[in-house]
Amino acid sequence: MNQDKLAFGVDIGGTNTKIGLFDQSGAMIKYSHVPTLSQIPPEQFISQVAAEAAIMLKDAQGLSLGDPHIVGVGAGAPMANYFTGRIEYAPNLGWKKVALKELLAQNFKAPAVIENDANLAALGEKKWGSGQHFRDFILVTLGTGVGTGLILNHDLHRGYDALGAEGGHVIIPHDKKRLCSCGGMNHLESFLSAKGIKQTIRELTNEEWTIEKLGELFREKDPRALTIIDTIAEELASGLVSMAILLGPEAFIIGGGVSKLGEPFNDVIIQKLNALIHFSFKNKIQILTATLSAEKGAVYGGAALIMNEVSR
Ligand SMILES: [Zn+2]
Repeated sequence: MNQDKLAFGVDIGGTNTKIGLFDQSGAMIKYSHVPTLSQIPPEQFISQVAAEAAIMLKDAQGLSLGDPHIVGVGAGAPMANYFTGRIEYAPNLGWKKVALKELLAQNFKAPAVIENDANLAALGEKKWGSGQHFRDFILVTLGTGVGTGLILNHDLHRGYDALGAEGGHVIIPHDKKRLCSCGGMNHLESFLSAKGIKQTIRELTNEEWTIEKLGELFREKDPRALTIIDTIAEELASGLVSMAILLGPEAFIIGGGVSKLGEPFNDVIIQKLNALIHFSFKNKIQILTATLSAEKGAVYGGAALIMNEVSR
């Protein structure tokens, strides 16, 4: 193992594309982001991402793309298929039939790999974060949407044709009816996405709060904030129960912007989970916060994945 190997992690999101340069210990030595330009051809956009990466590499290490110290690039993107290296259709990027892995390899002049962002966040936590010591865990990202990544028997479970682990779309029992972004009804994401949480806040307070405001008031133990947290923790726990009963994880690791609610939020989730779950699982599953980053988990995971791949 050579300590001076470097890797790029990239997270192509609907609004921004995040780029990190990492060393082998998982330390992010340089970070940047560029707006995701979905109106230009993907070929042109990826060449702009690589140009930004080249500047980062020059600044941090005095190196150029193509240098043998760079082991490669791992990128997360919506609907990215690890097996084919392609995105067939990603509505929120407006991309159709994009050979993303090939474009990245050409432009970064290094091996490339692509994966969906929640799967990457799970891989990052497994390699360098709070998932290191678990054989089986489920990472749940609570952000714009709700994503899940499954680590089973120490490895990412991708499922058939990379369809695996869309836990944001498990159906949860509820006395309300809410449409999910995917068109389904009462999916976990319709309640726990940022939009879903804001709708719950509106229903319970008749006010518009940001997630940050919810966090502040929750820390101050504001009674209305406590009621909201109680409600969303129960909705989340309902979804986690369905995942746990099938997969038997040792832990759920919570990432994404909402994970900034931190330990006090985890405590409410665990109470709700233990109240709802089958008796054989009670008090056996841990709820932890992702330790690498709330919002850059997939960037870490991209670097983790390409480093894993090249050392195999
Ligand atoms: Zn859905």
